[in-house]
Amino acid sequence: MAVLHVLTVPNPILSKKCRPIGPGEFGEDLARFASDLAETMYAAPGVGLAAPQVGDLRRLIVIDPGNCTREQDDDGRPTNPRFLALVNPQIIEASKEMMVYEEGCLSVPDFEENVTRPRRVHIRYLDESGKPHQKWFEGYDAIVVQHEMDHLEGVVILDRVSRLKKGRYLQRRQKVRVRNDGTLEY
Ligand SMILES: [Zn+2]
Repeated sequence: MAVLHVLTVPNPILSKKCRPIGPGEFGEDLARFASDLAETMYAAPGVGLAAPQVGDLRRLIVIDPGNCTREQDDDGRPTNPRFLALVNPQIIEASKEMMVYEEGCLSVPDFEENVTRPRRVHIRYLDESGKPHQKWFEGYDAIVVQHEMDHLEGVVILDRVSRLKKGRYLQRRQKVRVRNDGTLEY
């Protein structure tokens, strides 16, 4: 397991659309990558992370199941896995009811902004072994999943605010990104 380097804006990789993961790509390598992604998320710490945030342009996100609706066995013990990996996630239904949440992002340091999204979303996805699932996410969990899915389209929260606000942030960022040797840090 490994903690990976998280890219930050304005790294151009974060603006790229990711490609679907094909049937032949499931296996040990993909499972290990999902696990590394989760490790990186917990180390940050964060509640979700998308593959492009570590420079991998495949449609894979991980989220912390601790924030998802608890599933329990017959004795009331949580049966949640260590993390939830969603491969090729798709929204198949979204509630008309919206909610506003102040979101932050590991790739957009020191920035938080109110974003409006559907309160409930029904997601179709494959797990890291290729098994298909459908699951409703609600409230905070729905926000996290939709935020991470945005990354797969090359969209970060900065793209959801006014151009003025985005410009100001990037200007501020520019100053802190200059390394000692004069090059820019992503
Ligand atoms: Zn993010």
